[in-house]
Amino acid sequence: MKNKKFPSYRADMRYHCLGCGRERGIGELLYTCPDCGEVLLLEDKNFTALKEYGQGYWRDLFDSRAGSKNPALCGIFRFYELIAPVLEPEDIVYLGEGDTPLIEAAPALRARLGLPFFFKNDGQNPSASFKDRGMACAFSYLKALVRQQGWDEVLTICASTGDTSAAAALYAAYVGAPLKSIVLLPQGKVTPQQLSQPLGSGALVLEVPGVFDDCMKVVEYLAARYRVALLNSKNSWRILGQESYAFEVAQALDWNVDKACIFVPIGNAGNMTAVLHAFLKLYSLGIIDSLPRLFGVQSEHADPVYRYYAAPAKERIFAPVEVKPSAAQAAMIGNPVSFPRIKALAAEYQKLGGERSFQVLRVTEQAIMDSMLLANKHGHIACTQGGECLAGLIAAKDKGLMGADEYAVLDSTAHALKFMDFQNLYFNNSFPANYRISADVALVNTPYLILTAREKAELGPQKFVPEVAERIASRLGLQVITKD
Ligand SMILES: *Cc1c(COP(=O)(O)O)cnc(C)c1O
Ligand SMILES: [Zn+2]
Repeated sequence: MKNKKFPSYRADMRYHCLGCGRERGIGELLYTCPDCGEVLLLEDKNFTALKEYGQGYWRDLFDSRAGSKNPALCGIFRFYELIAPVLEPEDIVYLGEGDTPLIEAAPALRARLGLPFFFKNDGQNPSASFKDRGMACAFSYLKALVRQQGWDEVLTICASTGDTSAAAALYAAYVGAPLKSIVLLPQGKVTPQQLSQPLGSGALVLEVPGVFDDCMKVVEYLAARYRVALLNSKNSWRILGQESYAFEVAQALDWNVDKACIFVPIGNAGNMTAVLHAFLKLYSLGIIDSLPRLFGVQSEHADPVYRYYAAPAKERIFAPVEVKPSAAQAAMIGNPVSFPRIKALAAEYQKLGGERSFQVLRVTEQAIMDSMLLANKHGHIACTQGGECLAGLIAAKDKGLMGADEYAVLDSTAHALKFMDFQNLYFNNSFPANYRISADVALVNTPYLILTAREKAELGPQKFVPEVAERIASRLGLQVITKD
């Protein structure tokens, strides 16, 4: 029965504006500050009171909830007190998100890189990406709002590089009325698997010519003028849910992140915001004794955050970039909505953890694809963004940024299967020229046809099996078993 208990702690949560510093109550769904237009973060005004419980209390509490049989505490809300401790158990939506495995790199891959590292497989979430973490929180809050306000219809809307819409449509479909899901996708810029997801969940799928940044402007326009619930990571309830990723990393490492380097791909920058915010929370409560080092990774074809941090501190000016086609398509964003959040949180992080505690790396498209395929050839299930993280680790090592006693945790943000078209382009060496990716034959794998349909017809049914078997045996160089 102990597991069935729901936490009694309730926070005093407010939207905190990163522009003017004003605070607002959470009685309405806000995306930006009504006063200055800047993005928001959700903060618990009682947070400092949580410090009194001490390290052992929190570690024991969260460890005791791992394996909880209470659905409301099984997923991201294992860390209820640190996420959204304003939700009631009846509002919590749980579809099996979170609690994803931390998989040690295969021995041969570890040896090849010459340092230990792990993949955290966030593709093992219900819609096969980390976006489910954020949606579980955003939808739980929406459910609470609907219950309190008695709304009879709520249109949820998002722009997406593919995975946000898959997650939003899934959760909306599960919760059902009065929620209705509408998703806006850049036409031809999401994979067929990603497109199939919101369609299968019954969402209204709207396509727009252009890239993600175009879709984002449209949904921002809609959210500013009409009553719709915006589900992009501009919605700070999403950020809270995504913080669970970092809490799980710390817990899986037995709360010792001293030598850990955490690699996270940056697209719209919501994920990195969540990781920064989460580790700052853990550190501030004394649950971890030191901050792990964080490495953001961007492709050379969508690198605005990299460019900002690459400039000398005094000369930094943020400028959106025009994206070029990227295999790390889920992160192909030129004007990240959460950049102001990164800027504020990274400054705080570096103040506590030093200059080297937060860095952003840039990798080539070639390295992204080579790394994904290399990982998956070793038994991993990395998506292209997971490949981007591995490419980032290789770059960090080559630049001498990793200490001899350090190890890495790479975020494989989605399941490899969502990005199979990129694998096919690589294996057929048919990437359009603007990706600047060509196949390394050592990584290519293609099916081999043993015999043609015509040969099969000519052989007839009697000879078919022996002929195919003999061709296979000869191709494999098999030895005939000799009987003595
Ligand atoms: C959304 C997404 C990203 C980028 O995350 P941001 O929070 O937008 O920076 C990376 N990988 C995958 C698989 C995604 O779906
Ligand atoms: Zn403001």
